[in-house]
Amino acid sequence: MICPVCNESMIVLELNKVEIDYCTNCSGIWLDKGELALLYSVDESENDLQKLFAESSSVNEKSYKCPLCRKRMKKIQFNNSELVIDKCPDNHGLWFDKGELEKVLTLKSTASSQKILELLKDMFSYNKSQEAE
Ligand SMILES: [Zn+2]
Ligand SMILES: [Zn+2]
Repeated sequence: MICPVCNESMIVLELNKVEIDYCTNCSGIWLDKGELALLYSVDESENDLQKLFAESSSVNEKSYKCPLCRKRMKKIQFNNSELVIDKCPDNHGLWFDKGELEKVLTLKSTASSQKILELLKDMFSYNKSQEAE
């Protein structure tokens, strides 16, 4: 998978048995459709989680293209917060800029999302020690 922001190849990371795509260049994260629900360990469809996101037309952030279909992604706002992420119009997945997935996991917190947050923190400290070598 190619990063929609910098067009670099992303690497696959495993978070609690969920495979996510991560860009080592910009620290962005791509979640395929359904993976956010998996991170929250929600068994049913993503519908309840999707309700937390509302389409936002008042955002001036640059928009990116879906890494799967290359269509321009929509800006969606998380739970009336300042947090805005990108979503493929054909629902292929969600794009989180650096730190945005952590914010979502913090704003809507469950036992499972807490665990993911810890894993993310571990990974990023791991990346830092690699850079120092
Ligand atoms: Zn990138
Ligand atoms: Zn798409």
